Amino acid sequence: METICPIDSQFKDQISAFLKPPSLLEVQDYFDQLIASKQIRGLKVKPNGEYGKGIYAEEGFEEGGLVLKDQMLVGAQHSSNKIDCLVCSFCFRFIGSIELQIGRNLYLHDLGVSMNNECTWQTSSQILKDCYQSHSSGGEDYSDVEDPQNFGECASSSSKNKISLPKEVVESLMNGELVLPYSKEFPLPPVVSCPGGCREAYYCSQSCAEADWDLHHSLLCGGETSKTLCEALSKFTQHANETNDIFLLAAKVISFTILKYRKLKVAHQKSATSDASNCDLPLLLEAWKPISMGYKRRWWDCIALPDDVDACAETAFRMQIRELAFTSLQLLKAAMFDKECELLFSLEIYGHIIGMFELNNLDLVVASPVEDYFLYIDDLPHSEKVRKHHLDIFILFSA
Ligand SMILES: [Zn+2]
Ligand SMILES: [Zn+2]
Repeated sequence: METICPIDSQFKDQISAFLKPPSLLEVQDYFDQLIASKQIRGLKVKPNGEYGKGIYAEEGFEEGGLVLKDQMLVGAQHSSNKIDCLVCSFCFRFIGSIELQIGRNLYLHDLGVSMNNECTWQTSSQILKDCYQSHSSGGEDYSDVEDPQNFGECASSSSKNKISLPKEVVESLMNGELVLPYSKEFPLPPVVSCPGGCREAYYCSQSCAEADWDLHHSLLCGGETSKTLCEALSKFTQHANETNDIFLLAAKVISFTILKYRKLKVAHQKSATSDASNCDLPLLLEAWKPISMGYKRRWWDCIALPDDVDACAETAFRMQIRELAFTSLQLLKAAMFDKECELLFSLEIYGHIIGMFELNNLDLVVASPVEDYFLYIDDLPHSEKVRKHHLDIFILFSA
């Protein structure tokens, strides 16, 4: 039987106002204002009733010239990639050092083999703590460190047949004691910890840490919240890691909307005398506006049927996807429910946010400085062979 989401029934009319596609004129106005506010030159976004939105060049661009640089609305590193690359949680550039990247990768892959061992968790937390401290910009107090359990199932996918480097070598790579030749040619920004002190978000700079906190992370950070909320957040994340990491991105959209709504409300209250505790629907719609511009349908209606699912099992499959979203939403609700923005926690809205990603998916690949480093070493002249040989060992182990 289909699960009924009580918020869907309670806010039926408001939800349909939120999910009503904007008119062509509203889309045009929104993007014109966005382009003007960001002082983007030479580009125009034009909606087309039939094919959606298009970006048009209104003036010539030089070959190799920058066409557009803009901040993404929401983005997340795939959970499966987190074990391999330590990147800024806001702009996704690699952070730390070549040694930390390689050492951490080897360390976490190796750890996957002994994941169920409680002692291993505790030791690993201490080691990671030490290594991030040594790669920070200095003097920062890391109250806690990355928890390898956050990687979900991906950490256990490490190859069991791999020969491991001695533990001390891996540790000295991570804590900065072992410096690899030519790694200075590939400098990376130091690791900046999350202002809330959680173990999941790390940044390339204070400005990225602050921007992420301000836009999404303050409601999704397990650092400073109560133990109950922290556990609830961790359950939500774990479920997403084990099923579909798209839920992490959907949570960012909800968090973004709530935080924006709160800011708008504070600004609005300075000039009006509205009830402080009731939901101001027009303001919530305003906060939702950037999301309203994305084409969306319900996730379970628009998801493509996988090849291994028989056509006669389609209804059951779509029902299963809906149930999965409902479970994820209940976990998210337990972690960051906001009574004033209750309707954002409806299954209908959650399903449409995820459906929007399903239909407008954009996978970005960030160039890896570690890969560049290996290519550089590979291209070294023969006379450098002795040092090169030393490095090939690492290439072998981390390939
Ligand atoms: Zn950054
Ligand atoms: Zn945090």
